[in-house]
Amino acid sequence: MTITDRWDAVMMRNYGTPPLALDHGAGVRVWDTDGRGYLDFVGGIAVSSLGHAHPAIVAAVCEQVGRLAHTSNLYMHEPGLRLAERLVGLLDLPARVFFANSGAEANECALKLARLHGRATGRSEIVSCHHSFHGRTIGALSVTGNAAKREPFAPLPGPVTFVDYGDVAALDAAVGPQTAAVIVEPTLGEGGIVPPPAGFLAEVRRLCDAAGALMIVDEVQSGIGRTGHWFASQAEGVRPDVITLAKGLGGGLPIGACLGIGAAGELFAPGDHGSTFGGNPVSCAAALAVLDTITDEHLLDNVKRVGEHLADALGAIGSPLVAEIRGAGLWRAVALTGNDAAAVEAAARERGLLVNAVKPDTVRLAPPLILTEAEVDEAVPLLAAALDEVSS
Ligand code: PLP
Repeated sequence: MTITDRWDAVMMRNYGTPPLALDHGAGVRVWDTDGRGYLDFVGGIAVSSLGHAHPAIVAAVCEQVGRLAHTSNLYMHEPGLRLAERLVGLLDLPARVFFANSGAEANECALKLARLHGRATGRSEIVSCHHSFHGRTIGALSVTGNAAKREPFAPLPGPVTFVDYGDVAALDAAVGPQTAAVIVEPTLGEGGIVPPPAGFLAEVRRLCDAAGALMIVDEVQSGIGRTGHWFASQAEGVRPDVITLAKGLGGGLPIGACLGIGAAGELFAPGDHGSTFGGNPVSCAAALAVLDTITDEHLLDNVKRVGEHLADALGAIGSPLVAEIRGAGLWRAVALTGNDAAAVEAAARERGLLVNAVKPDTVRLAPPLILTEAEVDEAVPLLAAALDEVSS
């Protein structure tokens, strides 16, 4: 039996049948179970911030798992406390932290904060954006602006109102005394790496202030260096009430975080929320290694510099299939003129480059933050050749 046959026999069908089985990785490269190597510009969907098998993560995880792998939330531990202190320090704002295991769970925490914020004044509505993505749990799905993903699971919690991403007038009309919170991504991630018009986040802040609603910024994909800043919202000079994180924070170990800033950090009373595994010592040790390495190796500067090089190289491909290059830092979309993204993904894979068809007409690149210009120069010709093959 092949590995594909074994997969198809026992796994639920929600992911279809993936095209590859990966075996190991090092830096920005991974190898499949047949020994073929690939440049990894998917990065575990914007997760593997330090690449694969980074010595700092390996050492931190091995040390911690050998010391104490799990405590539950009944006891304190130093890695979790240090990680919370580091995150609050990076925000440079008065804040409190809840640790979860994933992006969806970080958003569940944010939605529960919104419920508590709205309870005193009888508000429960959440305003979100069309084409947004906030996760697959029933709560996070209820505010995800993708009807095809949402509707099979109706009825979902509500009320939720969706507006067009970046449309300040629509947001102004939607946000009012009934609004408990607005949840927004700094740039649509799963929606195709679509940045909003300049100043959009500041407008969201203004409208939330005027209505007394919480501003929740979902930085699950954009946060922890992806755009060359610790938080994409910080780069915009915006102070949200709640920031959610996951993906790149753990560098491949599962962890999510919900940061409550100012009064939003004071909403939970003992017993209001919890997670058995959330913020377990091993994931926290990995996340601390990620934050230390980003700092010590000046990776935010690397993301900005190599990200510009990547954007320039993508812009120079000159394929008739390419409509636009979008994004910031090491988070780029190659928007196509038609629905060829899956074909481009497959053709790139055949050439030893992993990219992701995030939408039928959009190829996403979210490589590790340790990427070098030389690796960009190796990868982009492979993508160009894949585009040539698909266009011919
Ligand atoms: N929020 C955003 C912006 C995301 O991009 C994602 C995942 O892609 C999530 C939330 C959900 O994260 P997870 O898959 O870890 O639950």
